[in-house]
Amino acid sequence: MDVKRIFCIGRNYSAHIEELGNTPDEAFVVFMKPASSIVPVGAPLPIPTGRGSLHHETELVVRLSGGGADIAESDALNHVSHLTLGLDLTLRDLQNQLKDKGQPWELSKSFDHSAPLGEWKPYQKQDLQALEFTCHVNGQLRQHGKTREMLFGVARQIHILSRTWALRDGDIVYTGTPAGVGPLVAGDRIAIESAGIGKFEWNCV
Ligand code: ZN
Repeated sequence: MDVKRIFCIGRNYSAHIEELGNTPDEAFVVFMKPASSIVPVGAPLPIPTGRGSLHHETELVVRLSGGGADIAESDALNHVSHLTLGLDLTLRDLQNQLKDKGQPWELSKSFDHSAPLGEWKPYQKQDLQALEFTCHVNGQLRQHGKTREMLFGVARQIHILSRTWALRDGDIVYTGTPAGVGPLVAGDRIAIESAGIGKFEWNCV
């Protein structure tokens, strides 16, 4: 299934906001990655060199069937067609430098191979705010997300995005990461998993 646009939500779980030394805002952060940054399951995951630490951010990802502009929050989930998990890979040292300078985050968030993405499962109207997912690196638990801890639920995210972008079939949303982000290095094996969605793994090279 072709992906049209990748919207990413930042600062959407309070414990993760605190671990990065940020304070919760009244609005979440939105940024985008190019569709060309996707790494399918099982493909080698190249770790950038000479650009500081690379962090994993494990996220619920939703795929939209369209919906257009100004979607009501109460209608938003009718435009979700599929679910999966993904990694919003982040060059953390570079992101901190960009934040300090007040510059955009693309260099740290939107590089090639920055969006490992699991396989799509049809959305079967389960409660998106009652999901759990984990991230293990070399068998060790790094992240355990509970979507009920999102500051902005998925329906509200879609509503807010649709006020700026008319949402189209093939748009996807990385819905933010819980606490526990940490470094990946070449040789690591990362596995992200959620009951009912699946388990997806990559080898870092
Ligand atoms: Zn993220």
